[in-house]
Amino acid sequence: MRRGIRYVPQGMQELPAGYSVLGIPVTLRRDSPHHARTAGFFGMYWIEVNEHFFYLPFDEQHAILLHECGHVRLHHLLFRLLLLPLAWTNWVKTLCWKQEFDADTFACKQGYARPMLQYLRRARDDTASEYHPPPSMRRKAIEFFMHNGVPLCESSC
Ligand SMILES: [Zn+2]
Repeated sequence: MRRGIRYVPQGMQELPAGYSVLGIPVTLRRDSPHHARTAGFFGMYWIEVNEHFFYLPFDEQHAILLHECGHVRLHHLLFRLLLLPLAWTNWVKTLCWKQEFDADTFACKQGYARPMLQYLRRARDDTASEYHPPPSMRRKAIEFFMHNGVPLCESSC
């Protein structure tokens, strides 16, 4: 590396045709507000990425795709669909927060704890939403996993 020139890791510039991760198709939805999100229902799932996704470093792209794979593999969307009538309850909101931690743990278990942490450090604001924990809480849970090799909290707790 030449002095003064910072290495900028390059990510995917576009989706290769038929691209999938762990058998889950990845599609482009330019106008999506999320870098990546899972969509689908009853066994038909896919991951949508927006155009900002392509500006992320390659390892962070993979980390967030694996986070989305975690949502699919752990059947989170099915739970959310079934619990839709109770979506306003604190119980379901708590469950949704736990699903985010579990999806992060899934990515961590694939070896992507550090890139997931880097990605969450980029978060511009640290506010929680009703269904999403704040990035700082997710970072703490990932750091716990990195230091202890076990999740801070499994689905059963
Ligand atoms: Zn998620």
